[in-house]
Formats: sequence, structure tokens, C-alpha cells
Amino acid sequence: MQLSNNALAFVYLVSGALFILGLNRLSHPSTARHGNFYAITGMILAIVATLLHPAVESYTFIVPAIIVGAIIGIVVALRIQMAAMPQLVAMLHSFVGLAAVLVAVGTYLSHAHEGTLTVIFMTEVFVGAFIGAITFTGSLIAFGKLQGLVTAAPVAYIGQHWLNLMLGLAMLGFGLYFAINGHFVSLLIMIGIALLLGVLLIIPIGGADMPVIISMLNSYSGWAAAATGFTLENKLLIITGALVGFCGAILSYIMCKAMNRSFISVILGGFGTGDAADESGVAAATQKGVKSSSVEDAAFILLNASKVIIVPGYGMAVAQAQHALKELVERLEDKGVEVKFAIHPVAGRMPGHMNVLLAEADVPYDLVFGMDEINPEFNSADVALVVGANDVTNPAAKRDRASPIYGMPILDVDKAKHVFFIKRSMRPGYAGIDNLLFYQDNCSLLFGDAKEVCEKTVAELKAA
Ligand code: NDP
Repeated sequence: MQLSNNALAFVYLVSGALFILGLNRLSHPSTARHGNFYAITGMILAIVATLLHPAVESYTFIVPAIIVGAIIGIVVALRIQMAAMPQLVAMLHSFVGLAAVLVAVGTYLSHAHEGTLTVIFMTEVFVGAFIGAITFTGSLIAFGKLQGLVTAAPVAYIGQHWLNLMLGLAMLGFGLYFAINGHFVSLLIMIGIALLLGVLLIIPIGGADMPVIISMLNSYSGWAAAATGFTLENKLLIITGALVGFCGAILSYIMCKAMNRSFISVILGGFGTGDAADESGVAAATQKGVKSSSVEDAAFILLNASKVIIVPGYGMAVAQAQHALKELVERLEDKGVEVKFAIHPVAGRMPGHMNVLLAEADVPYDLVFGMDEINPEFNSADVALVVGANDVTNPAAKRDRASPIYGMPILDVDKAKHVFFIKRSMRPGYAGIDNLLFYQDNCSLLFGDAKEVCEKTVAELKAA
């Protein structure tokens, strides 16, 4: 069976609408499942319609490739740890980039064979190939940095920006020469330079800026797909690519704002390595004049509070403490304590990281608040309970002009009457800097794994 051009265009239109609806529903945790459902339906329709495209002459290679790809996808999705999700996303972007390069070269060769090359077509090939090549190697380096295979520290050397500029100009030069003359070797040289640029553009970027880069590469992968859509004259690929391209760009902007980083300074690199000295436990705290507390004391103060705000962070994800935390909330609510969650836009290691984990533990959505909503409430909170968050609570962002995070909006945890801070040691968070909150009179550290501390606190609350 083959679809007519009109039927194909109609199915693609429906798929595009489902993708847009899906994105709309993904904007809130309570509707996110529906969003995924719409997007999956749109993608199934798109794939089936494309398989019934008149240009598809044989399924001999397509069907086995889909089966093998689907099996790998299912296994990876089932086995991936939530904390490793950014790496997975980076790896998936690299596939999109590679696919764009291969499609560009393959389509050029088939048009050259048929003698149907035009300047417009070759410009599309050039654009798809160079964005795809930068996305491919850039995403591989981002994956390597997040996975610890490549140093997370910014790699800088003299003349770095000049070298990148020269390479960028050379890439454009070869690309334009190819677009005008159809010279295949120029295309290959241009792709080679773009592959090198992908590496050189990402290595100077430090660990703490990696989330912005992942979302920027997400945007690039969208533009690569859109360019491929033009090359293949596939309207759905153009729509989908543009959606991904814009979503990635908007997300990069939102994240830069949440970290108070300008996009240009992120691209030019050099912030946060993620490597920190090991300063374990109570002794290091005492040496620095930081108070530590016991679970018993914390449980007592929590029980006598009327309002508690919980601030989850990366440590909650590492410890998988969300279920224990949910139980803690239930115990407190049973005792008549009002409990709310405060989520910073870049808490954890990916956008929405905390929301996903809290939803997994069935924490009701109406207890979960974003930074702007909850910040005015810390003044009236008896306790702020910080569970494995760090950078997103650091008052250095407000007070210390010399701090690399100065100007980043933070959760106003320091304004609560008491602050209990669960972490395992005196090691800093992702930005690699000391947290000024620890030195405030109202702050006490609860040393230990977040899950264990929450479970012990629940036991104390039950016994009370
Ligand atoms: P941080 O990385 O600032 O701090 C995490 C804290 O968790 C550390 O202080 C660590 O201390 C503690 N911790 C780790 N494991 C455990 C555990 N098992 N039990 C208890 N505590 C633990 O996290 P935040 O969420 O506050 O901030 C996010 C940071 O990551 C920001 O700098 C942001 O820019 C960056 N980032 C954000 C991404 C995003 O998209 N959301 C992606 C990548 C980076 P200790 O080791 O002593 O236990």
C-alpha cells in the first residue's frame, strides 16, 4: 500500500499538530503524561506514513534497522539511571547530527548521479551537513564530559577564539564553494572542519555550564533536522526540526537566566569543573565554624514547626531519597505541619529533574512550587529543609560580587527561621564553591546520605 501525496501531507499535518499539542502538555507535570502520549502518537503516524511514501521501494534494510534500533532504545531507556539522563540526551543529539551529515552526503550523491544539482539544493546540503557535523562531535564531547570520559574542567589555550574564528571562516568558504560549484571534495573538507569545530567549541566549556550546552545542542540538532527536511523535501521534518530548534533555544535562554549567565559567556566557556576536594564530615565542619545537628534535634524542631519548606537538589537524586521524603511529608502533615516543596529551575542535573523525581514518588503537584512563587514564603517558614541541594541556595549569589555565581537567582532559604541542610560532607556543589549559608546562625548541617537521614527522621517522627 502507498499513500497519495495529499494523504501523506494530511497525516504529516496531523503529526505536526500532535507534536505541538504534546509540547504544550509537557509544560506542567500533571499533564506531562498526556503530552508524551500525543507526541508518541504523532511519531508513530509520521513513521508509518513515511514508510508508505511512494519513494520507499523496499523494506529490506528499513525493517531490520527499525527493529534493532527499537530494541537498543528500549534496553537503554529501561536501564538508564535518572542521574545519567543528560548524558543520554547528549548521545541522542549526536545521532541526529550524524544522521543529518549522512543524509546530506547521500542525497548529494544521488542528485549528482541523476544530474539534478542546483545551487539552492547544494546550499541546503551544505547547511544540513555543517550544523549536523558540529552537533555530532559537540554532543560526543558533551557526553564525554558528563560521563567523566573527558575532563569536565574548561580546556583553554592561547588563541583559542581566533583559531575557532579562522576555522569557522574556512568552513563557510569551502561550503560556499561547494554550493556554487558542487565540488564534492569541498563538501568533505567542509564537513571535516565542522567536525573539528564541534570538538573545539565544547572543550572550553566547564561542567556547570554543560546543561545550557546540552540544550543548545538540542537546538542545533533541531536545525540540522530542519535543514535535512529541506534536502529531502519532507515537510514534517522541517516542522519537527523547527520545533526542536526553537524549544532548545528558548530552554537555553531560560537556563542562562536562571544561572545569571549570558549566552555568549557560556559559549566562550570556563565555569565550574565539578571536581572538588574531599572534605568529609563533622570534623571539617567544626574546623570551618559550621554547626552540625542530630536527626533527633531536627525531628523535634520539624514537629514544632507550623510551616516547612523542603528544597530538593542533586543529592536527593543521587540518594534516591524522594520516597523517604514523601513519607516524611506525610508524617509532618499528619502532625498538622504545612509542607511545601521549592524547586529551583536548575536544581539537579537537568531541567525538570526534581519535578520528575517528586512525581515518581507521588508527591502531590499542588505541594510543589517554582522559585518565583515560593521565594516570598521563606520569611514565614519555620524550617527550610535542604535535601542535597547546594548551589541553588548559596547566598553568595546575592552578596559576594567576586563569586562566580554572583547574580544567579537563588531560593531564599537563608530567610527561614531554621535551616537544616542534609549532605554527606563539606564538599561543595557543582559550581565548586563554598556555600555561605553554612556560616549563618540559623543553619545546621545534618551529615549523611539523604535517603538514610530522611528515613531516620521519619522514624523519629513516628516515635514522637
Ligand atoms: P549541587 O550540585 O550544588 O549540590 C548537590 C549537593 O548534594 C552537594 O552539596 C552534595 O554534597 C550533596 N549530595 C550528593 N550526594 C548526596 C547524597 N547521597 N546524600 C546527600 N547529599 C548528597 O546541586 P543543586 O541541585 O543545588 O544545584 C545544581 C547545580 O548543578 C547548579 O550549579 C547547576 O548550575 C548545575 N547543573 C544543573 C543542571 C540542570 O539542568 N538542572 C545540569 C548540570 C549542572 P556532599 O557531596 O557533601 O554530599
